[in-house]
Amino acid sequence: VRVANLAGRLVLVSQNGRALDVHKRSAGAFGPDPQTAFDEWSAFARWASTVDLAEADLPIELEDLLQPVPRPPQIFAIGLNYREHASEAGLAEPDSPMVFTKFFSSLTGPAGDICLPLEGENDWEIEMVVVMGRRARCVDRVDAWDYVAGLTIGQDLSERREQLSGTPPQFSLAKSHPGFAPVGPWVVTPDEFSDPDDIQLSCSLNGEEVQKGRTRDLVFPVSALIAHLSHRVVLLPGDLILTGTPSGVGMGRQPQRWLAPGDELVSVIEGIGEMRHRFVEATGA
Ligand code: ZN
Repeated sequence: VRVANLAGRLVLVSQNGRALDVHKRSAGAFGPDPQTAFDEWSAFARWASTVDLAEADLPIELEDLLQPVPRPPQIFAIGLNYREHASEAGLAEPDSPMVFTKFFSSLTGPAGDICLPLEGENDWEIEMVVVMGRRARCVDRVDAWDYVAGLTIGQDLSERREQLSGTPPQFSLAKSHPGFAPVGPWVVTPDEFSDPDDIQLSCSLNGEEVQKGRTRDLVFPVSALIAHLSHRVVLLPGDLILTGTPSGVGMGRQPQRWLAPGDELVSVIEGIGEMRHRFVEATGA
């Protein structure tokens, strides 16, 4: 099952990229607001798996898709969760998950323009994003995937100067400029992947592939992250977990490379799809 937010309405998406309006198709059993699907995910997913997607006939333009989870109650992000990325960042591999947040107002959809903060050293980070489908408290690793609604694509855009030059480092603010958390294009249920713990993710800048990795290389895999987080906080339906980025970010290059106005970033995850963003100069707004 794939769910998306098409111009503000909850839709199911077929393999050939056409949409079916959930509110209409379910005769009102499920609301049009994409967020509500995650509040009653088990019932929704059960219903959605019975729908014949041959009926999906709405065309989808990437530009019409908004973030598939419009109002996540909480957004968790994990730093240094791939060994080679920790090493290119010049930091030690953590012995427990390194957790920060991206503030809600940094969220944006899977396509469009993103403003670059003036005088920033702005960097890309492709990440697989977990969307929670149930309240989770003190969940064991073996049960963790049962709490996941699905997976989607994210970018953990980062302004490195503020993130790393201060003492101590300042992750959440430096990664929460407006538009610094693009997510989408849709949420795909774990059963659609042959192995949800081994998925390829990559991103390209102006057509040049800059990152490519596989989630089997996560230092702390999805099940470990859910166990770790849920033993400390309550995870809520619709929460997002950005699971970390593989190597190949601009900070780790010789010479270092930062995002510039006019750059186009394409973010791809196998079995999900892609996001496309263009960077523009901040206007001060
Ligand atoms: Zn990250």
